[in-house]
Amino acid sequence: MSDCIFCKIARREIPSEIVYEDDEIIAFKDIQPLAPVHLVVIPKSHLRSLNDVTSEYEALMGHLLGVIRRLASEFGVAESGYRVVTNTGTDGGQVVGHLHFHLLGGQALNAKIG
Ligand code: AMP
Ligand code: ZN
Repeated sequence: MSDCIFCKIARREIPSEIVYEDDEIIAFKDIQPLAPVHLVVIPKSHLRSLNDVTSEYEALMGHLLGVIRRLASEFGVAESGYRVVTNTGTDGGQVVGHLHFHLLGGQALNAKIG
């Protein structure tokens, strides 16, 4: 996807503060953080949302969750607690149309989810 902002980040065509990268996944600091720790974790493959995550991506999603778990530890929020969010579609508040997981922590988060 040539005009996708997160694909561009993955290709390093636009700058971002990358905190993790491997062959399949990249994680970077959110440009407008909503908490002291606010990372965005994405598959490098352009999946539009969780709706695109068919069974062939199960291994990738397992790997991605493992990366999130390690980042939570690395950024010091594993014990204090954190939230992982993936907004999906219009009603879900998804703005960037490339599957991504927010990792939020470092403060007590609003207990309200919806
Ligand atoms: P969502 O509303 O779930 O689609 O979240 C998109 C997130 O991407 C927002 O939290 C934005 O602040 C973040 N974002 C957008 N552009 C960038 C960028 N260039 N670098 C880092 N984060 C970004
Ligand atoms: Zn993309």
